[in-house]
Amino acid sequence: APQARPQGSSGAGVPGVKHIVAVASGKGGVGKSTTAANLALSLQRQGLRVGLMDADVYGPSVPTLFALHSKPEVEGRMMKPLEAHGLKIMSIGFLVDAGTAMIWRGPMVMSALTQMLNEVSWGELDILIVDMPPGTGDAQLTMAQRVKLSGAVIVSTPQDLALADARRGVAMFRKVDVPILGIVENMSYYDCPNCGHHAHLFGHGGAKAEAQAMGAPFLGEIPLALDIRSTSDAGAPIVASAPDSSYAQAYGRIAESL
Ligand code: ADP
Repeated sequence: APQARPQGSSGAGVPGVKHIVAVASGKGGVGKSTTAANLALSLQRQGLRVGLMDADVYGPSVPTLFALHSKPEVEGRMMKPLEAHGLKIMSIGFLVDAGTAMIWRGPMVMSALTQMLNEVSWGELDILIVDMPPGTGDAQLTMAQRVKLSGAVIVSTPQDLALADARRGVAMFRKVDVPILGIVENMSYYDCPNCGHHAHLFGHGGAKAEAQAMGAPFLGEIPLALDIRSTSDAGAPIVASAPDSSYAQAYGRIAESL
């Protein structure tokens, strides 16, 4: 008879960290980092102790999202995470110079990630959100295997191409027994601030239908909005800068359903 497995992948955990949750996407540019940052902030607002680890070695966005540009202090073998809005934050972008073209191979990605998990003094955390490198290649698979992930959130736009990649993401995590916490549809629609027109720029309902087809929870929709982009570029994502906005509430609902 099959043995009962504990929830989550079989890899190593991080002492003091209760849950590690990956935020992933099959494709770059769909809003994975924006979603990871705003979900981390939402969870923190719900009273949890939250860390955010930017593992997107190909294009770390967390330094920009939180306007953090100093190097972490080192104590012995351990790096101290930086802090912003009550989050403990570590990014590969703190460690390498901005603009460095990172053509990393799988094993290099893996060792950088291992270091960010094990040689950072995260302290006691209820949840560590990991902004994963985009894609479903070897690096992601290895990461999903070696780190004890409690679950994964997949971010997709409503477009067919992004959804096809999201499907590969779900398959990859399932292969290594990481529970799929659900799918977030980003850039779902656009409400014109001038005329109120509600437009589905990239199609509609795709992620929900895809989630249903894959038997994964659909976590909710985030619109394409100037305020989401501008607050992120300014270094204080929407949940931190406009916590009462409808956008922050949308992230809050998703965070509650995790
Ligand atoms: P990824 O991590 O998937 O590469 P990012 O989170 O870096 O994507 O987002 C890519 C770009 O799109 C960024 O400029 C970001 O500010 C913007 N963006 C992401 N989500 C939204 C949204 N819902 N509305 C407006 N802009 C968004």
